[in-house]
Amino acid sequence: MKYISTRGQAPALSFSDVLLAGLAEDGGLYVPETLPTFSQEEIASWAGLPYNDLAFNVIKPFVADCISEADLKRMVDDTYAVFDHSGVAPLVQLRPNEWILELFHGPTLAFKDFALQLLGRLMDHVLAERNERLVIMGATSGDTGSAAIEGCRHSDHLDIFIMHPYKRVSEVQRRQMTTILADNVFNIALEGNFDDCQEMVKDSFTDQSFLNGLKLGAVNSINWARIMAQIVYYFSSALAVGGPHRPVSFSVPTGNFGDIFAGYLAKQMGLPIEQLVVATNRNDILHRVISGNDMSKGTLEHTLSPSMDIMVSSNFERLLFDVYGRDGAAIADLMKRFKTESVKLDEQQWANVRELFDSYAVDDNTTCKVIADCHAETGYLLDPHTAIGLKAARECWRNKATPMITLATAHPVKFPDPVVKAGLNAPELPERLSDLMTREEEFTVLPKQLTEVQNFVASKVHRT
Ligand SMILES: *Cc1c(COP(=O)(O)O)cnc(C)c1O
Repeated sequence: MKYISTRGQAPALSFSDVLLAGLAEDGGLYVPETLPTFSQEEIASWAGLPYNDLAFNVIKPFVADCISEADLKRMVDDTYAVFDHSGVAPLVQLRPNEWILELFHGPTLAFKDFALQLLGRLMDHVLAERNERLVIMGATSGDTGSAAIEGCRHSDHLDIFIMHPYKRVSEVQRRQMTTILADNVFNIALEGNFDDCQEMVKDSFTDQSFLNGLKLGAVNSINWARIMAQIVYYFSSALAVGGPHRPVSFSVPTGNFGDIFAGYLAKQMGLPIEQLVVATNRNDILHRVISGNDMSKGTLEHTLSPSMDIMVSSNFERLLFDVYGRDGAAIADLMKRFKTESVKLDEQQWANVRELFDSYAVDDNTTCKVIADCHAETGYLLDPHTAIGLKAARECWRNKATPMITLATAHPVKFPDPVVKAGLNAPELPERLSDLMTREEEFTVLPKQLTEVQNFVASKVHRT
């Protein structure tokens, strides 16, 4: 299978090349040239499979000409064995036909482990075959950093540098990154904010000469392999509630549009999905586009659901590429205009988007209220991102006979503030993290200066 860029000007690449490349040369994102599809009979035959076996079936066509079946099998087996729940992605029922899909049983207690645990193994495998090394640089305000570090810590062929804004991430989130002591893991605390961190990473990708021949790789959700891994749990959860014989709907707490885009792909691949609900916080550009064709950046607001505090959702470009009939030139033009001005989609394209997605935006007060009400009604504790998903599910759900599954993207222990604001006790750290607050930490504080950061990276990378 070949992968092509959403902006139409970069060479088509194989899966392995896309895995290591991140962004395409023309600034676009890679997508499969043609999507594999599964028949209803085939999907139905997967009912009851363990998660790793299902993951193997769903992922196989995407990597077929690059990774042998035996290698893929071993990697998915290893990946999903590190999850704490034997079902890997279990469902919890709140009300009739209303379900929560718990995606937080991985090492860092957020759904990003599903993709990043696999990504680290895939990268290491391809790099070993090619006898190459890769340097990962990423900026994080929380979840991505720890999940990426956990995913890469055992890799022999890459070094990972994760930058977070000094003193501006929660102690739990910082410790989840800085207590992983490994030869190839480097935490940088930058004296600046998250945007400064991101800019340093962007500038380093643009000019990689400071690495003297080594190359940078990406672990954010522009990396196709992350989207691919996330398709699996749409299949597993739909099968668990009676799919594909009956349709299923999903509500997805959304930031960069990676997770819900995986749901859209599952639907294109043959899974009967009735509704896909985009749930956002007050950073609601996606809700404004879908409901009112208003694609304008507002000012970024800090909310109680920080992993969704995103203004420009990079993976939305992958969707636009499809709704514009895969016209790379049109997307390049649209994205160029969006950089400096508010844009509107063409009427027909906007209608296509509306047919595919519903959307709803939730503010902080409502988020806390949903957490409190749900706990009072069922005893179940939601994290703030999931609470937004549940609220949006209930507002947008058209056909109550169709199961509605809300993706629980994080464990509530990661975000205690809204839980306390909701008048509840902060949850306790689960077993695997119970000693987190006393573990040894390691990180380097650096000034907000590109040369300082790049010198640090260049001095630490392993070259053989
Ligand atoms: C990353 C994240 C999201 C947003 O997912 P996207 O794929 O960026 O849309 C939502 N909730 C939590 C807890 C996250 O970590």
